[in-house]
Amino acid sequence: MSESLIVIGGGLAGSEAAWQAAQRGISVTLYEMRPHTITQAHRTSYLAEIICSNSLGSKLPDRASGILMNELRMMNSLLLACAEKTSVPAGDALAVDREAFSKMVTENIENHTNIKIIREEIAEVPDGNVIIATGPLTSKRFSDEIMQLIGENHLFFYDAISPSVYYESINMDIAFRGSRRHNQDENSDYINCPLNEAEYHRFVHALTDAERVEMKDFEEDIEYGVKAGEGKYFEGCLPIEIIAMRSEKALAYGPMRPIGLIDPHTKKKPYAVVQLRQDNLCGTVYNIVGFQTNLRINEQKKVIRMIPGLENVEFIRFGQMHRNTYIYSPKHLLSTLQFKSRENLYFAGQIIGVEGYMGNIATGLLAGVNMSRQIKRQKPMQMPETTMLGALCRYITISNREAFQPMKANLGLLPPLGDQKIPGRKQRGLMHFERSKNEIEKVMKIIGD
Ligand SMILES: Cc1cc2nc3c(=O)[nH]c(=O)nc-3n(C[C@H](O)[C@H](O)[C@H](O)COP(=O)(O)OP(=O)(O)OC[C@H]3O[C@@H](n4cnc5c(N)ncnc54)[C@H](O)[C@@H]3O)c2cc1C
Repeated sequence: MSESLIVIGGGLAGSEAAWQAAQRGISVTLYEMRPHTITQAHRTSYLAEIICSNSLGSKLPDRASGILMNELRMMNSLLLACAEKTSVPAGDALAVDREAFSKMVTENIENHTNIKIIREEIAEVPDGNVIIATGPLTSKRFSDEIMQLIGENHLFFYDAISPSVYYESINMDIAFRGSRRHNQDENSDYINCPLNEAEYHRFVHALTDAERVEMKDFEEDIEYGVKAGEGKYFEGCLPIEIIAMRSEKALAYGPMRPIGLIDPHTKKKPYAVVQLRQDNLCGTVYNIVGFQTNLRINEQKKVIRMIPGLENVEFIRFGQMHRNTYIYSPKHLLSTLQFKSRENLYFAGQIIGVEGYMGNIATGLLAGVNMSRQIKRQKPMQMPETTMLGALCRYITISNREAFQPMKANLGLLPPLGDQKIPGRKQRGLMHFERSKNEIEKVMKIIGD
C-alpha cells in the first residue's frame, strides 16, 4: 500500500484527518473545492470554516460535549487546539471567533510539510488511499458519484441557520446580560431580550403567519431534485417557525425559556427571552441562539424586530435552510470508519451522519489515524464504546437502518456505568468523563501521537 493519502473536503473533518495523517508521516493531498466552487452556506476560502453557530458545545466535564472535547484534547486534535486558542467568552461553552479559528487551522495545514492543498472540486472517487469528508453540502457531481459507489440514494433532510446581528444595534436599555445558569450578571456572555406574555403571543402569531421560503425555491436553487414538500427536518435543529406551529407555548418551553433569568429593569422573570451569544472576538457580532429559521428575508427583518431590544437590529447574516446529505452508515461503514466494500476508503464528518462540530472533528481525527495505521500495516483502531467517540461511531454504524438519523454526542449513547445506581445526572456525567479519560489513556498507548 502506498504511503500517500487523498483527503477530499477541507472542512472540519477533512482538515483534522489530513493533519493526523500528516503528523504520522503520511504524505497527504487535501482537495478543497472552495473558493472556485462554493456551497450554499460557506462564505470564505478558509479550511475548517464554521458555518453557523460559533459554539462547539459545553466545556463542562459532566456533559457529552465536554467529554468529547477532553478526548480530542488527549488525542492531540489540531482543531480543538485552534478552537481553544481563538475562543471568545461564552460561559460554560467553547465558542470561537469563527474567522480567527479557520484562519489558524488553514495556516497550520498550509505550513505542514506533509500536506499539499489543491483547490479543486473532485467529481470521482480516486484510486488509492482516500478519505471522503465532503460534508453536508457535498457538491452535486460528487454526490452523484457517491450514490453510484454505494448503490443507492442518499438521504436528504434540511437544517436551518440562525441569524447574526450587530451588537451596536441591540437596545441595551431593554436587553440585559445574564445566563440561565448564573442568573443575571453584567459580565455574562449572553444578552437576553425579555418578552412579556402579550409580546410573546404577538411574536408567535407573527412568526407562524410569516412567509417562508418555499421548498420549491430551495429545490431550484440547489438543483437536487427533491420534490416540494418532501424535505424532512432534523428534530435537533428545527426552524423556530416550525416549533411555533407545533404549539403556542412550544418556544416558551424551548429556545425562549426564561429559566433562571430576572429582568433587572422590571425585577421580574420575563415570560420568555430571546438569547444572543457573542460571535466574534471583538464582540461586534451576536448570534441569536436557537433561532434557526427559513423565513423570507423581509419577514425575518419584520418578525425579529418585534422582539423588545431588537426593534432596530441590523443583520449581518440572515437565517436560511440548507441541505444535509449523508450516507446510510449502518450499511456501508465499519466502526473504524472504513468503507465495507473497499478497504482503502474511509468516510468522516457529517456525511456519515454525525451531527455537531465536535463529532465531525472527532470522526475526522479517527479516520486520519486509522488510515495512517492501515497504510503502515497496523490494525485500524476500534474506539472503546465507553468513550464518546467510540459510542458515536458505534451508533452510526450499527443503528437501525430504517430509523437512521444523524446523531450528536450525548450521554445516552454511552453504556451504563455498572450495576450500582448513581444518583444525579451531574455525578453520572462526571463518572462517564473519568471512564472515558482512562480509556483514552490506553488508546494513546496504542496509537501514539
Ligand atoms: C448550514 C449549516 C449549518 C450548520 N450549523 C451547525 C451548528 O450551528 N452547530 C453544529 O454543531 N453543526 C452545524 N452544522 C453541521 C456540521 O457540524 C457542520 O456542517 C460541519 O461543518 C460539518 O463538518 P464536515 O467536515 O463534515 O463538513 P464541512 O465542514 O462542510 O466540510 C466539507 C468540505 O468539503 C468541501 N467539498 C464539498 N464537496 C467537495 C468536492 N466534491 N470536492 C472538494 N471539496 C468538496 C466543502 O467546500 C467543505 O469545505 C451545520 C451544517 C450546515 C450545512
